[in-house]
Amino acid sequence: MKEKITIALAGNPNSGKTTIFNNLTGARQHVGNYSGVTVERKEGNLKHKDYDIKVIDLPGTYSLTAYSPDEVVARNVIIDEKPDVVVNVVDASNLERNLYLTTQLKELGVPVVVAMNMADMAETQGINFNYQILSQLLGVNIVRTVGTKNSGTQELLDEVIQAASGQAEITEKQVRYINELEEEISRVQDLIAENSSATLEAASSAAEPLNMDGDYLSRWLALKLIENDKDVIQKIKSLSGGGKVLEQVAKSQDHLRKIVGEDPELIVVDGRYAFIRGACQEALTYTRQDRISTTEKVDKILLNRMLGLPIFLGIMWLLFQLTFTLGSPPMDWIDAGFGLLGEWTSAHMNEGLLQSLIVDGIIGGVGGVVIFLPNIILLFMGIAFLEDTGYMARAAFVMDKLMHRVGLHGKSFIPMLIGFGCTIPAIMASRTLENERDRLVTMLVSPLMSCGARLPVYTLLIAAFFHEKVAGNVLFSIYLIGIILAMIMAKVLKKWVLPGESEPFVMELPAYRLPTLKSVLIHMWERSWLYLKKAGTIILAASIVLWMLFTFPTVDSQGNEFASSSLQMEQSYAGRVGHAIEPIIAPLGFDWKTGVALVAGFAAKEVVVSTMGTLYSIEDEDALAEAEEASVKGFADRAREQSGYTPLVAYVLMLFTLIYVPCMATVAVLKRETNGWKWPSFMVGYTLVLAWVVCFVVYQGGLLLGIGV
Ligand code: GDP
Ligand code: MG
Repeated sequence: MKEKITIALAGNPNSGKTTIFNNLTGARQHVGNYSGVTVERKEGNLKHKDYDIKVIDLPGTYSLTAYSPDEVVARNVIIDEKPDVVVNVVDASNLERNLYLTTQLKELGVPVVVAMNMADMAETQGINFNYQILSQLLGVNIVRTVGTKNSGTQELLDEVIQAASGQAEITEKQVRYINELEEEISRVQDLIAENSSATLEAASSAAEPLNMDGDYLSRWLALKLIENDKDVIQKIKSLSGGGKVLEQVAKSQDHLRKIVGEDPELIVVDGRYAFIRGACQEALTYTRQDRISTTEKVDKILLNRMLGLPIFLGIMWLLFQLTFTLGSPPMDWIDAGFGLLGEWTSAHMNEGLLQSLIVDGIIGGVGGVVIFLPNIILLFMGIAFLEDTGYMARAAFVMDKLMHRVGLHGKSFIPMLIGFGCTIPAIMASRTLENERDRLVTMLVSPLMSCGARLPVYTLLIAAFFHEKVAGNVLFSIYLIGIILAMIMAKVLKKWVLPGESEPFVMELPAYRLPTLKSVLIHMWERSWLYLKKAGTIILAASIVLWMLFTFPTVDSQGNEFASSSLQMEQSYAGRVGHAIEPIIAPLGFDWKTGVALVAGFAAKEVVVSTMGTLYSIEDEDALAEAEEASVKGFADRAREQSGYTPLVAYVLMLFTLIYVPCMATVAVLKRETNGWKWPSFMVGYTLVLAWVVCFVVYQGGLLLGIGV
């Protein structure tokens, strides 16, 4: 019994479509016209293996918009007649431009097989193709053909049969557009599904058929509407609920124009080319370099195997330098501002619990978060700038190979890098990862990148317990251990907690351009506001809870005031927690006081230092203030005398501070980003266990070997 397959040949003009068509069908052709338009319709038949194959030669087009009758005809044949497979003939010697049509065919949700035609010409031009990678990245099967020599024709037919029978591994890979556009697409898509899914189905069997699967259909329609496709607009208008959809489309277009500063149609075009450029960068190599564009010229340097990484690290170093130098004066102002606010409040309130709650709990706690705002704004501004120029995509590309070793995507590197500044923007920056599992892993390991707030803890302990000569190395080793642990954890999480193949992604490589000030500012503002809003509420609650833990009870069991604040702290709930966990942390060399400091560190890591100051009765106000700048010898000396730590314990304490629970702001942000407490709890749990295990090994190992005791 013979099975019937219908295939449609699509391709740019002059890609060799007619030649392939003739190779396939020989003389069995039939030429007619599409009804209503003067576009030639050619059909032919052939037999291959057990199949009767009908071939429709579509008009040659560069695109599938509704601008020309040719394009509308090609598109309608695919949507209405629903061929089993679309064979996309591309001119391999001009691949990027030809693949533009391919991306659009994929968006229609039909199985596509690509005939890489004119491969002979491309090869003599010095272009080499990695068919396997290209096919994975584009999500289509590819066959090398040379139309004029009739080569590749049988292989092409084999692939067609595979694709038609659903045996081919055709992924659902599609162009993923910039986040702003994706958000608008899903907004419109939801409305389409909500308002007209029933009507859509009715419409597909009616005079204007829309024979596509639901998801593809609504995404495609949404995209086309945003692109201003007059044909699709017409179709939607005629449906009930269509008015609402079109209203949202107008809103989405306005939003895109405002935030991206470009016409929605162009944003879509850019997105497709960025996708294609990324795929070609991975899969094509040139033995001869002739005609190359400016973007390609710049990419030759920035994506260079030798230079790419150093350039990237240099740019990042600059960004961090700028962030922290420009950020420190406004941080001082904010600090001073909150200080004044605290003093003013103290002066205008009666002394007592309420005053302490407002001044120490609320103003102190919230101030501790707001103080990072200048850093965050500057960091986000720099990142928005680098993103808008198109460089960030290159940075991810440069890191991709390294990151793949731990099962992550190159794009994960950027959030991790940001993590050295602050984990909160790092978690938010992971939004660029489209794969949900990769994004989770990235967010979960980002606290292991030692953030800026932990630096004061390190500097104090290093100043107190290590010789100046080794100070730099000690600090470096802490950072390095963080990175290594992050890599190991990423691998572990990918393997055990969030298993799954890490599929190859196309790294979109948009064309370079000068960013507009407006766009950079809008991006920066949106993210900074998110930081404040997201961290704000939970921070406030947690600050109050921590304040209560450290403040109550206010009197001892006899009802007397405590003789000193360190005594009060010992008797407070936090102090009791410290005592309670002493048995657990004793194998790490920590006493209960260290335990209390670590509990306090959950508010913000730098608090570990000031809490230790209070506990070890280092109550010299000036020394404490200076200790926050973490430079003072005096404070360090006293810390050494009072705490009785050995250098080994100090080192283990640094390690613990590095690894154990990220601050509560991070936990709060993770909760919002993952919509629930599951992953934040997991993060808190795993970091605690990891911190304990690593510190146990280091401390006990150090004792055994007699290092630093
Ligand atoms: P169409 O416009 O897509 O239908 O393209 P045609 O089939 O008319 O081909 C355009 C030109 O390219 C013709 O001169 C073909 O002989 C030539 N051609 C087609 N396929 C190949 C190929 O694989 N290699 C080379 N070198 N030339 C080809
Ligand atoms: Mg032709």
